[in-house]
Formats: sequence, structure tokens, C-alpha cells
Amino acid sequence: MNVCQKSLMKRIITSGLILVFFLIFSIFHKVNDFLKIYIFFISYLIVGYDIIFKTVKNIWNLKIFDEKTLMFIATVGAFFLKQYFEAVLIFLLYQVGELFQNIAVVKSKDQISSALKIRPEYANLKQYDSVKKVDPKQVCVEDVIVIKPGERVPLDGVVMNGGSFLDMSSISGESNLLSVGIGDEIISGSVNVSGVLEIRVKKKYENSTVKKILDLIENVSDKKSKTENLIKRFAKIYTPCVVLAAFLILIIPIIFLGGSFYVWLERALIFLVISCPCALVISVPISFFLAVSKSAKYGVLIKGSIFLELLSIVKTIVFDKTGTLTKGKFTVKKIICQNINEFDEQNVLEIVALAESKLNHPIAKSICKAYGKQINLDRIKNIREIYGKGVSGFVDDREVLVGNLKLMNECGINGIKEYDLGTSLHLAVDKKFVGSIILTDDLKDNLKEVLGKLRDVGVLNLVMLTGDKKNIGEYVSKKISLDSVFCELLPFEKVEKLQTILNNKKVNESVVFVGDGVNDAAALKIADVGVAMGQVGSDAAMEACDVALMDDDLKKLVVAILISKEAKKTVKQNIFFSLFFKGLIFLFGALGFTNIWVAIFSDVGVSILTILNAFRVFKKKVYLK
Ligand code: ADP
Ligand code: MG
Repeated sequence: MNVCQKSLMKRIITSGLILVFFLIFSIFHKVNDFLKIYIFFISYLIVGYDIIFKTVKNIWNLKIFDEKTLMFIATVGAFFLKQYFEAVLIFLLYQVGELFQNIAVVKSKDQISSALKIRPEYANLKQYDSVKKVDPKQVCVEDVIVIKPGERVPLDGVVMNGGSFLDMSSISGESNLLSVGIGDEIISGSVNVSGVLEIRVKKKYENSTVKKILDLIENVSDKKSKTENLIKRFAKIYTPCVVLAAFLILIIPIIFLGGSFYVWLERALIFLVISCPCALVISVPISFFLAVSKSAKYGVLIKGSIFLELLSIVKTIVFDKTGTLTKGKFTVKKIICQNINEFDEQNVLEIVALAESKLNHPIAKSICKAYGKQINLDRIKNIREIYGKGVSGFVDDREVLVGNLKLMNECGINGIKEYDLGTSLHLAVDKKFVGSIILTDDLKDNLKEVLGKLRDVGVLNLVMLTGDKKNIGEYVSKKISLDSVFCELLPFEKVEKLQTILNNKKVNESVVFVGDGVNDAAALKIADVGVAMGQVGSDAAMEACDVALMDDDLKKLVVAILISKEAKKTVKQNIFFSLFFKGLIFLFGALGFTNIWVAIFSDVGVSILTILNAFRVFKKKVYLK
């Protein structure tokens, strides 16, 4: 409990004890009215002074109506009816409800931050023979750091020395340990479990995985869900209406039916108390918040509750191919050399690797890995990426063009042979075709099963957009039984296609786009929900996306959809339950069967029950059948 909660609790207890002692006292002794009012009033002030203060301030600012105002009016009325005890009770129980809500909100916020208490405090920087503890921000690319067992990996890098197991649970929710050894890339935020690791840092702290995650978390809940906003707006109109209605309940029977003032004042007050919208106002955001933090535990970061709402109605998912459905790790199948007089196969690979060395595309990274040698940056000049087609520039002062058939045709390079085996990269030097590299990229593991699960949770349409050749796109699509596939698309054409899909969707359906951010950041932005791959994903992807899958596992998308549906269901349950219950009490009230007591208890009770219901639902684990 924090300080505010503690002080509120103390006030509730003090005020409650005063009431109890006084009631016991008044059983044995006769108390005069003056003392009675005095004691009740003190206990009323202790527990409710902040509500009174807030209401007066609201009225002063002409912002009259919120739930606190309702409660305040109700207590004033109760005093008027000489129901002093009830007046205190209204505040007392209202505050118990407040306290409960407050604890629930703080608890659900804590869950998010504790699921992600991953900010690294320090890095052990290796300098010659000594090791120094420094701020991770001070470490440069290519520096060497040491990570001891039990420490959190502060920066992304490649293992140079040692071997160990990494606990990835706070990043991806994956409970299996990951075994790493020399040459493996490791990501920040994971925890080193067993051996000592020496790693060469590959990214500055600002660009590291852990920083990306933290940035995402800090921006969570900026975007409120529709239901949440609806409830807020509803409360704004609703509360003044309730006050008006209570007023009418009071005066109409008196004027037209000659009813007794005290009877109808009491009924009006009961109505006021029952109509308090607290349960809705609080349980909806709490449900969404818990769902966001539950997703975070599974390694799915959701940037706002609106995306949960949209995920719960997804009917179409559009995938990018490379890095999303495939692993994005190409292997060189074949190198073909056309101009054998001047170049051999090794030359072809070297020139292509040099040309690609500055790019971020999975093809570029894979080629450089296949080449395997250090790149001398002095040998390359004027490198320009041609998005969705390839790259141009100068290598050893000779003009070089690397890319797909489309690019070669556009640049007037002739004599190219295409191969069906895989994705082909063609190389032209000084505008002459020199050779090709054939690459293949494997589909992700268990892809078919995961796509099946997506259908199980209600997705009707699985679509793939790719810049790759038609035969490859269609081969992939057939293999994993997609509903439709569009190939040979340039980045802007992918956006156009997605836009068409978005235009054709029905109301109350949403379209999700899943990509790695390489050549598809715009698509991530325009989709109803843009889902990015957290690990292979670029910074642009992290920026543009609405949901990030921290370990690039599409299974987590299924988890996110399940959680979103759960959230939606809980919210509906809670809304229905509170409206139904309050309606019932109201009916009894109108017939004269209830008193203020019942009204107060039912109001607070409903709030607490809806909150408990939300917690119950989000405690459950998600099982993928
Ligand atoms: P995808 O839609 O599969 O993610 P991209 O739109 O990123 O693919 O790229 C489409 C095609 O453009 C690739 O299949 C490849 O032929 C070519 N291409 C893109 N980037 C490069 C590059 N850096 N080097 C060579 N070819 C590239
Ligand atoms: Mg791509």
C-alpha cells in the first residue's frame, strides 16, 4: 500500500471506530441529539473531507457533476432526513470502494512495470585487463563487456568468449532457457543464468532492444479504448441526468400526488446512491489495463487498450513474407557466374556483400554473413538502397547494381537468367550482367499450426504481401494454405493493397498487418493494428507498430487475440452485471422496499465485485490447445 492508500485507510478505520463506539455507548446511555449530531459530524468529516472539498471546488469551477457530487448530495439529504448514521455510512463505504479501486489500479500498473523491470543498471566494461562498472549509455559499439551469472544483459552484442544459458522470460515470456555460445547474438534485457560471458557490443544503448521495450511500455495506455472513452463520456452526461431525475423523483410526487416530503426525499436519495456509475467508470479501464499487463507477461507489448479492442474483432490478417512468415535468414544456395573471364564465384559474393554491407534488409545481412570476412568500408561509395528492389553504388570505383529482375530490367541490363530455386539476386558491374546469387529462406517453425490456431480464434482471411517473385510467393502461400497472396509488390504497392483490404472490410471487423518493418513501416501504420516483430524489427517498426511481439513468435499473436477477447468479454460481463443489479435495486427502491443502507451496500458491492471479476479473469493462464 502506498502513502495515500494508507492515509485513506486510517481515516476509514478511525471514522468507523468512532461510529461503532458511539453506537455501543448509546445502547447503555441516553445521548442527547446535539451530542449525536456532533459525533456523527466529526466522523463524517474525517472520512469525507476530501470529497466535500472536491465537490465545493467543482461547483466553484462550474464543473458540478461527478460521482463524488452524487455522494455528497446524498449525504446532505441524509442529514436533512436526520439519518446521520446513514450519511456517514455513505461516505464510509464510498471510500472503501475508492480504496479498493485505488489498490486495484496501482496493482495492475505494477504488474506492467514488474513484468518489465528490465532497465539495466550498469555494464561491466572491459578495458585491457581490468573491468569497470559503467552506465550502459557510456558503452560504445565494438566495446567488450563482461556479464556475470545472475546479471542482466545490458546491451545487445555477440558472444566472444564463454557460454551460458539466458533467461528470456522478462522479454518474451518464454520460460525455456536459451543456450548461447561463441558467435551467438544476444539481446539486452535477458538474464545470464550460468556462465561468464564476454560480448562485443553491437548497438549503442539508445538503439538496444531493452531501450526499445522500455520506450514502448512508457507509452502504453496513451491511446484509450473506445469502450473506455464511451464510459467516460457516458458518465459525464449521465451524472447530471441522475441528479435531475432524483430532483424530479422528489418534487413530482409531492406536487402532483401530495406525497410526503420525507418519504420521497429518501427515495430520491436511494436513487442517487444506486445510480452512481463508479462500477463502470473503474472496472472497464482496469480490465483493459490488466489485459495489457497480462499480454506483456507473454512478451506481447500492446501500446494502448484501443488495440485490444480492435484485436478482439480481427477477421483479416495480412502478413509480410520475409522475416515475418519466413525466418529472414537466407542461405546461399548457389552462386552463378556469367562473366567468367573477369570474375569468379568468390568475386561475385564479395562484390555483392560489399554493396549490401550498409543495409538493414534481411537479404543484405544474410549475404554479409555468408561472405564472413571483415568489410573494408573504404572500398565502397555512394551506396543507395532501392526499396523493395535492391541496391546501387560503387565498389572499388566500379559501378555496381544488385537486385531482382525488375531492377535489372529497369536499368537496361540484359542477358539475365532467372532461376526457380529461390530468391535470386543479380549483379551487374559497369552496367553488364556478371552473375547471380540464389538464396533460400526457410519458413518459420510450426507455421502451419500457428496459422491454424489463428483460424481457431476467429480469423477468416490470411493474406500475404511480398516483394518477392511470383513463383516463390505462390509456393509459400500454398504450402501454408493462405487465402490469398500478392507478389512482386514494391513497398508503396504493399500499402495500396493493404488500403484496398481496409476499405473492403465490414463494420465491426478489423484488419491486422504483421511485418518486420523492413520496407513495410507504412503498412504497419495504416493497418487497424500494426504488429511488428520485436527482434528482427527495425527501430522504424517499433515506432510505427501498435503491438510488438518481442520474440518474433507468431504464436504470441494468438495469445494476444485470446487475451483481447477475454478482456472484451469481461468488460461486457461487468457492464451487464452492474446495470442489471442496479436496475433491480432501483426497482425495489421505487416500490419502497429498500432503504439507503441497501443502496449503499449494493453500490459498493457491485464495484468491488466487478473489479474482482476482472482480476479473476486475468489471473488465468492462456493455454494454447
Ligand atoms: P518482402 O515483401 O518479402 O519482405 P521486400 O519488399 O523487402 O520483400 O523485398 C522485395 C524484393 O526486393 C526481394 O525479394 C529482393 O528480390 C529485392 N530486394 C530488396 N532489398 C534488397 C537488397 N538489399 N538486396 C537485393 N535485393 C533486394
Ligand atoms: Mg519485408
